[in-house]
Amino acid sequence: MNKPAYIHTTPKDNVAIAAGLLGLHSGDVIMENISATELIPMGHKVALKTFQPGDPIIRYGYTIGTANCIIPQGSWVQEQMLQIPDAPILDEIKFQTSPIPSFETLDGYTFEGYKNEDGSVGTKNVFGISMSVHCVAGMANYVIEKIKKELLPKYPHVDDVISISHTYGCGVAINAPAAIIPIRTIHNLARNPNLGGEIMVLALGCEKLRPETITGTSTKSDILYMQDESLTGFQDMVDAAMETAERHLKKLNARKRETCPASDLVVGMQCGGSDAFSGLTGNPVAGFAADLIVRAGGSVFFSEVTEVRDAIEQLVARAADEDVANKLIAEMKWYDQYLEKGDADRSANTTPGNKKGGLSNIVEKALGSVVKSGSMPIVDVVSPGDRVQKKGLQFVATPASDFVCGTLQLAAGMNLHVFITGRGTPYGLSMAPVIKISSNSKLANRWHDLIDFDAGPVALGEKTIEEMGWELFHYMLDVASGRKKVATDVLGLYNDLVLFNPGPLT
Ligand code: CA
Repeated sequence: MNKPAYIHTTPKDNVAIAAGLLGLHSGDVIMENISATELIPMGHKVALKTFQPGDPIIRYGYTIGTANCIIPQGSWVQEQMLQIPDAPILDEIKFQTSPIPSFETLDGYTFEGYKNEDGSVGTKNVFGISMSVHCVAGMANYVIEKIKKELLPKYPHVDDVISISHTYGCGVAINAPAAIIPIRTIHNLARNPNLGGEIMVLALGCEKLRPETITGTSTKSDILYMQDESLTGFQDMVDAAMETAERHLKKLNARKRETCPASDLVVGMQCGGSDAFSGLTGNPVAGFAADLIVRAGGSVFFSEVTEVRDAIEQLVARAADEDVANKLIAEMKWYDQYLEKGDADRSANTTPGNKKGGLSNIVEKALGSVVKSGSMPIVDVVSPGDRVQKKGLQFVATPASDFVCGTLQLAAGMNLHVFITGRGTPYGLSMAPVIKISSNSKLANRWHDLIDFDAGPVALGEKTIEEMGWELFHYMLDVASGRKKVATDVLGLYNDLVLFNPGPLT
């Protein structure tokens, strides 16, 4: 007989989750002296103790609600049996110094990366063409097609040529306070470690966003103005762009991968198209691997403000110091106000699909989302469009929209992306490898050529979170080294970059 499949997320938890496709049946022994007393559907909670009214129900190590009736040990903990905790009020959250958990550092793990002059390391070798205004986007596409056909075959060590396209640059209130977000995003995208500092900026000439804002001083960039009076006709402009491009391609082609410590990784975590298993398999496995990267000295960040807003107390409790706690609260407040301005709220209610899948309330959903950040202290908080400065686990404030979040994570300096999905999405980015993790094997089997890593075996009890977390960690080092290619890189399946522009258009 197969062992009944269940998931117990942390030792503190007083509920477990039925994992197998058929759930748990009456009489199934879950743990020592605990048996299921009724059918518990897949993804739903089973009581590991008898709850009295008022008792906290703990999942992911945190209280997701209190019992509002007697819930006998071994029975199904259903949504209506839980009293939902009040939504956290940001002004009332106080930082309390809690002991920072000690952890063993991991030494000796390396990957083969491209070292940059600014100290960052690339996992790909990509030539980026940025632009100061969308007016030149057509020209960029034209030139890129020509480069791919005529130049790229001569420079085999360059992985790709990409457009850092956006719809910003003119017709915008460039001095509005919120304009800082798209402007610094465009600037920091050009600084992504995978572009090696070799940037060509296509400009028009009369636009509001000055091209120098993009290049700053840290990239060896060239700016090409289409309105340059020495250029006559489109062909002249294309010739100038091709000549400039070839200079950069030569330099990029000369780069070689070198052995770098795992501490040079800057990993962005995100989820999209989540299902009930995301918080049970994919996110905990990704969280375990995130801890390993941090223990190896690397940078890991998670994002998606609206997804974690309801777990703010837990995040504040993990802040390394009071400054980080205050920054976390400030980013959540900023986003609350941004939503209010648009006459929306965070629509924090769980969907019918979530509830059917076993998520009782938004607290449980948010905790499932936060699980992908692992268990390390949060050492810094980065505003949208800014770049991370530190090693360790950080929060990069972004919307939850996959492409907007991914774009801001690239601007934050991400050189490797981990993306967890349950329903499935073909999401991919050309600037950094996107490791797509499925939360269930059904998806991984159906989308065998789109999913890179299947965390489904955790749900079936075939592998532990720890085992799969280590597997993912090694897979990440392989992908960062170019030894393994993610599905979207094999297929050339990429989404557009999408700016977060909270400011007004004119
Ligand atoms: Ca997302």
